[in-house]
Amino acid sequence: MFGIRLLIVLFAIVAVVLVLRRMYRRPAPKRPLVAPGQMVRCAHCGLYLPREEATHEDELDFCSADHRDRHARG
Ligand SMILES: [Zn+2]
Repeated sequence: MFGIRLLIVLFAIVAVVLVLRRMYRRPAPKRPLVAPGQMVRCAHCGLYLPREEATHEDELDFCSADHRDRHARG
């Protein structure tokens, strides 16, 4: 009985160590810094977002298709 308990405890310790090592070894994912020029403003709500995530219509930028439609409806 003691042996099984010891085995479980050892396994738990090894698992925790492996998880911690993986967490600390992996550097934070490097996200490329967004250049200031790549940010656009939603013409409807004023939200700033990366250009590639924006919806474009008539040289205007929108945060979503919903806001684009709302802006078109006036
Ligand atoms: Zn918006």
